[in-house]
Amino acid sequence: MSPNFTVVGAGLAGSLMALFLAEDGYKVELLERRPDPRVQQRVGGRSINLAISERAIHALKEAGLAEEVLAESVPMRGRMMHGIDGSTTFQPYGQDGQHINSVTRDHLNDVLLGAADRHPNVDIRFEYRLIDINFDKRTLKLKTAGDDIEAHPFQSIVGADGAYSAVRGEMQRRGAFDYSQDFLDHGYKELTIPAAPDGGFRIDPNALHIWPRGDRMMIALPNDDGSFTVTIFWPIDGARSFDSIPDGDAAALRQRFTEQYPDVVDDLVDLEADYFEHPIGRMVTIKCDPWHEADKAVLIGDASHAVVPFYGQGANASLEDCVLLRDALRRNPNDRASAFAAFGRDRKDDADALAELALHNFIEMRDHVASPAFLARKELERKLAKYAPDAFQPLYSMVTFSRVPYADAVARSRRQDQLLTGSIGTATAAGLAGLAALLRKAT
Ligand code: FAD
Repeated sequence: MSPNFTVVGAGLAGSLMALFLAEDGYKVELLERRPDPRVQQRVGGRSINLAISERAIHALKEAGLAEEVLAESVPMRGRMMHGIDGSTTFQPYGQDGQHINSVTRDHLNDVLLGAADRHPNVDIRFEYRLIDINFDKRTLKLKTAGDDIEAHPFQSIVGADGAYSAVRGEMQRRGAFDYSQDFLDHGYKELTIPAAPDGGFRIDPNALHIWPRGDRMMIALPNDDGSFTVTIFWPIDGARSFDSIPDGDAAALRQRFTEQYPDVVDDLVDLEADYFEHPIGRMVTIKCDPWHEADKAVLIGDASHAVVPFYGQGANASLEDCVLLRDALRRNPNDRASAFAAFGRDRKDDADALAELALHNFIEMRDHVASPAFLARKELERKLAKYAPDAFQPLYSMVTFSRVPYADAVARSRRQDQLLTGSIGTATAAGLAGLAALLRKAT
């Protein structure tokens, strides 16, 4: 008998979706092309930690897993900007007590996978790679670790197989399917600041550190073992790019870091090994439409909307997708095609809005955060939000600390921006109270 749902990809979205479906009584087959990450050595070179916030935490709470995930997180209360002269500026993310959380991808994935694995309705198969779908006959072809090919029957597929989704590829071949992929000219590479000899952190643990350097940047997120995962975002070629450091040229590498990141170069203890051994990752924005094929398949997570990582929302959005798809299925228990269609219709604009936000935030993080005018504006927004939260909410707060749909957050922010820009001159004399009153009157 075929399972009620076949979830392809046991990453973040696939594991949580399998669990939600199982909890609602469905029999689920969860297929993952990699070996079980809990027993195998980890694949290197990927982002080792992630910032998660309200949307992901809500999804984890729905599964009863938030506490377990957050037990190994480090709170980051704001951005710490590092100037080229070694000076630092701290900018809080939100109001007192608001923070985002740095967790390791491995821990998050293990908790989700473990919970799915423990559920009797979930049958997980590792080293099963989807290679083909016959939508008419409702069978999929899988390649196993021993290179055998197996055919499995299915009722409905959830494609949670990431940015380079095979499920999406099969849907694309059916025709009438819009698809676009845009790669950034920048790549990324991960380095590490290890814990200090006494086990403590070498730099402030409660911040997301940014070294903005014009059209490139470096960031660092804390891990709860005292280390930091550091990521450099540089152009692939051209001046001060990855390409301009010849392979193995340790002197050129050290010179670049000494010039560009002088305050932290000595903390990057394994700089040469990390840099020359780790791959350069590419970043892509993927959009597609529709996200479903009748009642036969639906896409979630990066498979339907991969975004560049600069808003720290890709995983948040992917986990939020699981809640929204579960709810759409609950509203349409006997009509999966309608549930899938409703999920995609309601979510597509939000995914597109997030894609733009993420691209824009790269420019903000690498460039604007260093500007005094930007910092002053952020401070004004923060005060206004504290003084008159009903009249003003910063875009970052709506995206990060609420579950307001992304497209609605962007629309509200645009209205606020227009009003704020138009009101500043008039209201300066009256101070914050005047500004809040004007915003309140106009919204
Ligand atoms: P994935 O996590 O990619 O999982 C897909 C799974 O499908 C994998 O396990 C894969 O092995 C499996 N698979 C693939 N093909 C097949 C197949 N043919 N058959 C079977 N299985 C298959 N997001 C945040 O919210 N905060 C951050 O701070 C953040 N930082 C990031 C930093 C970087 C550098 C990058 C690149 C991304 C970052 N993200 C962040 C985004 C986040 O990593 C993704 O949005 C998230 O992992 C998407 O989850 P997913 O389950 O959809 O896909």
